[in-house]
Amino acid sequence: MSDSIKGIDEQLQALNEQYRKRLERTLDELEQSALQLSEGILTEELSEPLFQKLHKLAGSAGSFGYTQVSQHAHALHAILGQWRQTGLADVDALQLGSFASGLMGLRQYFDLRTCESSIQAVASDSPSSEHKHSIWVVEDDHEMRVYLQQQLEAYGYDVTPFESLADAEAACEVQPPHLLLLDILFPDESRNATETLLQKSPLTHLGCPLIFISAYDEFHSRIRAARLGAEGYFVKPLDMVRLVNRIDHLIDKQMMSPERILIVEDDQLLASHYQLVLQQAGMIAEVLDNPVQIIDTLSSFKPDLILMDVYMPDFSGPELAGLVRQYDHWASLSIVYLSAESDLTRQVEAMRNRADDFIMKPVSDQQLVSAVRVRVARSRELNNLIMRDSLTGLLRHVMIKDAAASALARAQRYQSSVCFAMLDIDHFKNINDSFGHACGDMVISSIALLLKQRLRQTDIIGRYGGEEFLVVLPDCTPDAAVELVNSLRVAFSELPFSSNGRTFHVTFSAGLSCYDSSAEQSIEVLLEQADRMLYQAKSAGRNRVCINATE
Ligand code: GH3
Ligand code: MG
Ligand code: MG
Ligand code: MG
Repeated sequence: MSDSIKGIDEQLQALNEQYRKRLERTLDELEQSALQLSEGILTEELSEPLFQKLHKLAGSAGSFGYTQVSQHAHALHAILGQWRQTGLADVDALQLGSFASGLMGLRQYFDLRTCESSIQAVASDSPSSEHKHSIWVVEDDHEMRVYLQQQLEAYGYDVTPFESLADAEAACEVQPPHLLLLDILFPDESRNATETLLQKSPLTHLGCPLIFISAYDEFHSRIRAARLGAEGYFVKPLDMVRLVNRIDHLIDKQMMSPERILIVEDDQLLASHYQLVLQQAGMIAEVLDNPVQIIDTLSSFKPDLILMDVYMPDFSGPELAGLVRQYDHWASLSIVYLSAESDLTRQVEAMRNRADDFIMKPVSDQQLVSAVRVRVARSRELNNLIMRDSLTGLLRHVMIKDAAASALARAQRYQSSVCFAMLDIDHFKNINDSFGHACGDMVISSIALLLKQRLRQTDIIGRYGGEEFLVVLPDCTPDAAVELVNSLRVAFSELPFSSNGRTFHVTFSAGLSCYDSSAEQSIEVLLEQADRMLYQAKSAGRNRVCINATE
């Protein structure tokens, strides 16, 4: 268990303790109300705060482990709600008496605290904190091993080669990789032996994605691989671009950035509880302190999802959701209501009011985490479809232009620098003409992979046009940008491509422009400069990087 998780555990305990005290106070207050009720009169002044208290109790107690308190409060809240609708005057003394004893009875459930916070900490201790993703290659053929290492390193992976399963197994204990690439020979006589060996091997239980490479392209070998949990099966001779594409996809899936959740909830203790539970599960959760600031908070925090309480004193959940939806930018943000509202018609009404889903309070910690996780995954998938190009997975033209403009605005605000690089593949028409359009596509996706692998998390990459790419490099000096893009250029030029048995190399040219806070420039001007520099690189002979040297 990592230190941060331990810290969260302690905070959760402290919060539980605070809640326990609050609950004791609430139970005292409810007992007072019960005494008044047993005198036989239910006034509006008495019913209103009682109704609120029961609502709050029903929604929160379950989250702190007092499930039964929650359930009984919920039932009492429903009865009182009905009376308030039909008229308090009609309630007779007998009904009031049994309601009062129901209130008194809540205390007996106080000691029956059921579940401790039961979340399994998904320690987000990734195998390596470095930017480079690590791949282990287990391959007994020396030449193939060296080839795979070179190729994968060219795409920016950190590769560790092993000659045998035993060698790799010995290394398992130190630090597992992000992905395992296994060459398995399934020659007829030892098929079962290899399979048994692998089933028992710690390598197939590392929890990282597993890809098999094999000389055999036949059903039984593939089914064995599937049985062993392989998420990829590649047949020699290897199509490196397809292989790297799969590796990239699998690692991406595994390395998904943590879910970002904005919690809008007027009950501070409950809000902190949700926050800690989500954090403990590896998410980034923030509580909105002031509803008036909701739009500012969305812009700075950029959540994947809003967890929205329905009943709040100043502004209701549906009202806030309505306001959020007025902004184009947030029109498709996931909003999930979290409320003790059990009345189905009202739920539907709340949904109709611009939210995507409804989670019933009280919600167990585990339910909360999985409900949030599923909804974020779905909304991310949708967003990806909208924002990303399907061939390369890079941002589409409009999106990368937006991102470039925001990066410039940020640099201007914080007096920092940002560079823009426009890349265009050289003589790409020739590739299409000589090797076909599909091969051209493969070249495009391999340059995209190279960029994704080699650049920092904070850099932004987009497919600007057919075989033209825009890279935004925040906090990067012009010198560093030139050096970086040059290293990309060299790495790309060294990648061997093959089609129909012919091997060839491809190059690109790049134009750079930089903002260094000394001059006020618009994004249009900066992109145009980068474009002009790209043109210059082309006319100077291609396969080079040019930067505007006006300053
Ligand atoms: P230059 O060095 O001057 O850039 O020469 P070029 O041949 O690369 O010229 P240009 O950039 O004008 O050519 C782009 C070509 O890329 C034209 C188009 O047919 C092709 N192309 C654009 N998008 C795609 C795509 O998605 N897939 C494939 N295979 N080809 C594409
Ligand atoms: Mg509330
Ligand atoms: Mg071109
Ligand atoms: Mg072009």
